[in-house]
Amino acid sequence: MKIGFNEATTLGNSTLEQDLVIGEKLGYDYIEIRTMDKLPEYLKTHTVDDLVQFFATSKMKPLAFNTLYPVTFNDAAGEQKIVDDLTYMCEVGDKIGCKIVIGVCNWDQGIKTKTEIKNETVRMYQKLADIAAPYGVKLCIEFCGAPVHTVNTFEQAMEIAEACNRDNVGVTLDCYHFHAMNSKMAALEACDVNKVFIVHLDDAEDLPVGQGSDENRVWPGDGAVDLDGILGTLAKKGYSNAISVELFRPEYYQLPAEECLTIAKQKSEAVVSRHFTLG
Ligand code: ZN
Repeated sequence: MKIGFNEATTLGNSTLEQDLVIGEKLGYDYIEIRTMDKLPEYLKTHTVDDLVQFFATSKMKPLAFNTLYPVTFNDAAGEQKIVDDLTYMCEVGDKIGCKIVIGVCNWDQGIKTKTEIKNETVRMYQKLADIAAPYGVKLCIEFCGAPVHTVNTFEQAMEIAEACNRDNVGVTLDCYHFHAMNSKMAALEACDVNKVFIVHLDDAEDLPVGQGSDENRVWPGDGAVDLDGILGTLAKKGYSNAISVELFRPEYYQLPAEECLTIAKQKSEAVVSRHFTLG
């Protein structure tokens, strides 16, 4: 199993330029590049060709762009921005070899029924999938474990991904989000595992359903998430895509970035190696 890290893990204590150097030094297989802050910041003083050159010789490769947001319930201008953002990610991804874009649906849309959400999310992901397909780019629906999020459980995201009926639309299974809104282990056991494109690895403080936030994430193995249940089920079903650690904890941003990514890797490998062969 290949291990990556999402740049959110060092959101408050590093840049893309530093993340590349540290991730490569520490032997991560993959990096997930943040498109809403670290990539544009990097491109103020670098070019896409600098990234091309880095990844041409590095062992660490780009796994995904994170995040295309908000994918759903936009007005016409907002929807066009999503199309433009995706097209940009596909073009840059084509150059650097990044073949997954993670999308996140909307928060705070007032009350929408599950049917309204499904119809809108399928409509948008089908439209975006057709734009991404010629680039060989896959799209993930990342459900988010909060009550106000329109797609907030694994089973809901998987139902929508399957309804899209596109080979290049699947799901990001973030263990924190899975835990935070009580996604069902039975749904994971029953799912088409080929539709799980990425696993985000993290853990969480022991909070009641719906009361946590991303900042309540803790090192993998140190919290209340049933990581052995999730990873064990994925292993049994033959999951073979990457597992990428993604933390958002302000306290970890107080650490030097290299120390943060060193601990994240050690903790991730300890948990993942109970279910998968590393490498
Ligand atoms: Zn995530």
